[in-house]
Amino acid sequence: MKNIVLLGAPGAGKGTQAALIANEYNIPHISTGAILRKHIKEGTELGVQAKTFIDQGMLVPDSVVIDIVADRLGQGDAKNGYILDGFPRTIAQAEALDKVATIDLVLDINVPFDAIIERLGGRLVCSCGATSHIQWVDSDKRCPKCGEVMYVRDDDKPETVSARLEVYTKQTAPLVEYYGKKGNLVSVDVSASDTVEEVFEIVKKVL
Ligand code: ADP
Ligand code: ZN
Repeated sequence: MKNIVLLGAPGAGKGTQAALIANEYNIPHISTGAILRKHIKEGTELGVQAKTFIDQGMLVPDSVVIDIVADRLGQGDAKNGYILDGFPRTIAQAEALDKVATIDLVLDINVPFDAIIERLGGRLVCSCGATSHIQWVDSDKRCPKCGEVMYVRDDDKPETVSARLEVYTKQTAPLVEYYGKKGNLVSVDVSASDTVEEVFEIVKKVL
């Protein structure tokens, strides 16, 4: 299998599609956001530092996430391919990644901004990693996968969402051009009404 990078704005559905891809092709799903949230939950020093950035919708410093990813890619299960979700998010991160890995495919998931704002507004997450939306779950907010009660991420509050979208536009969107020039970029245009399954069908064709 290949080494894949998933690009896309917050709320584009990267995490959902990355989980499906990882499952289908039996490769690890490496999400820097998930790794950082685990550190926060466990109260590590790294987690305490990262939380101040994440809660403001800002990026965690490049050096921190680059170390996390270099370490993770060195683990045995990453030998036969992996899917990177949420990394790289800056040109500096992409350059650092190029030094330690060969990326075969960069998949850019393109969703209109108004759809993204609506999705993030009602997004629910579960400690098991599942994501959903208030419009899809019952009022008790039980996770469809594991039955735990789902919750709203601290950084999905409206003020933070607009900061994250601005950060995306300024710092992450330039990666589309970066990878476009390298020639390993495929963009998938998703409309607000496409279901998770419909998007995954398109993604599988690309892979
Ligand atoms: P989303 O894609 O919905 O924004 P993530 O879980 O990927 O969610 O990221 C959540 C937050 O974690 C980001 O807003 C950022 O603060 C931090 N983060 C995750 N990945 C990176 C990264 N590669 N570089 C810097 N910060 C990151
Ligand atoms: Zn769950």
